[in-house]
Amino acid sequence: MDRRAARGGAVAVLLIDLDRFKHVNDTFGHESGDALLQQVVPRLLAALGPQDVLARLGGDEFAVVCEDPDGRLDACAVTARLSRVWAEPVFVGARPLRVSGSTGVALAGDGATARTLLRDADAAMYESKRRGPGSSQLFSADVAARAERVLLVEQGLQQAVRRGELAVHFQPVVALGGERAGAVVGAEALLRWSSAELGAVAPDEFVPVAEAAGLVGALGDWVLDRALAELAAWRAAGVVGDGFRVAVNVSAHQLEPALPGRVAELLARHGLGPAHLGLEVTESAVVEGGVAAQVLRELRAAGVTLLLDDFGTGYSSLAQLRELPFDVVKVDRSFVAGLERSGRDRALVLAVLSLAGALGVSVVAEGVEREGQAEQLRAAGCPAAQGWYFARAVPAADLPAALAAAASRAGSYSPLPCPGPSSPSCAPSPG
Ligand code: C2E
Ligand code: CA
Ligand code: CA
Repeated sequence: MDRRAARGGAVAVLLIDLDRFKHVNDTFGHESGDALLQQVVPRLLAALGPQDVLARLGGDEFAVVCEDPDGRLDACAVTARLSRVWAEPVFVGARPLRVSGSTGVALAGDGATARTLLRDADAAMYESKRRGPGSSQLFSADVAARAERVLLVEQGLQQAVRRGELAVHFQPVVALGGERAGAVVGAEALLRWSSAELGAVAPDEFVPVAEAAGLVGALGDWVLDRALAELAAWRAAGVVGDGFRVAVNVSAHQLEPALPGRVAELLARHGLGPAHLGLEVTESAVVEGGVAAQVLRELRAAGVTLLLDDFGTGYSSLAQLRELPFDVVKVDRSFVAGLERSGRDRALVLAVLSLAGALGVSVVAEGVEREGQAEQLRAAGCPAAQGWYFARAVPAADLPAALAAAASRAGSYSPLPCPGPSSPSCAPSPG
């Protein structure tokens, strides 16, 4: 937080939202969530001055109003004191839990009202959430501009399906080793949005907005339906064989009890089996023991392939691999990027490969941009890969060309259309 900007007001409003509180409720039950709140509140009170007011706005969200009649308020000092609240774990039963909060701060300037202060603190809090657990953010013109953009994205998204602004693109995945080495074994579905007002908006920007606005369920259903419809059409046209699997990204918010039923219904609607579908979940999305983990188990039991996305970028990957029913880990492209120059990245990729081997889990390396990286991966025994070196994500209509390009890069170009499941390039998928 900018120390100078945070000084000198007479009134400040802080909004604090506990991080991952929903996970605690989902994983350990609501009593544990209550116990956590009961321990956090006295700590917050102890961190505040005698003039400050603490209010619970609901759930896991708190507001603090700080006032200094002399106008020498130091919001940084307040957030620093609050940050010490998170230094010690809370105990739920005998279990220590790390707890933190994201804080947004607004200082009262000219013309501020209770409403504008809360609104600004909320925009700052949204920003601090985006920056990661335990962050704090002071409201500023930049924060206001980003909040405005988020609003535009959210409003645009609400219309996007109806206006036909969305499309699903597909990036081929190739086998580097095993019986199907050199063949294209599937594709990842990636959502694209071309907004009439905002132009092309990247999923890294709009997916988090959709999640926060509760729109990701409807969006996710639409993507699943489109991806499966395209796959059914390619199969009917002989463009791909039976071993070809489409992987669709799902957000943590989609991992709710109704998902397995919806997946089954969509597969049936398009005349496909569970082996034709993979679902990609990021490692931060799932906590062992929670609702999401149960949903994943059901999907897995139904025969859907589960892929752990962006592996290596989170902090609980190893535990998740042991506890959760993943079939494939996707090595994040940040590791692949360093393969040719960094011995450490190479060692990490090798370690992931041997770990996955030991756990009976397959591996897809992401973000392969150069031949050298593909060679390193192949030599290391990495079963599969995707990336711009093989093919970019393309609209469904361009998939046949992308498959041919990817197969030729992967080393064994087989002419299309693929004759069916008995062809070597269309044999059952690995892993
Ligand atoms: P992701 O699942 O890790 O997807 C891979 C991203 O890397 C994609 O970005 C892809 O276009 C990009 N990529 C592929 N090959 C290369 C390469 O060789 N080099 C580089 N630099 N990048 C490469 P994209 O399409 O912008 O998607 C970004 C993220 O948005 C995805 O990351 C995924 O987390 C999310 N996303 C995309 N579509 C959906 C969706 O339908 N639902 C959900 N929930 N999330 C989605
Ligand atoms: Ca993915
Ligand atoms: Ca990824």
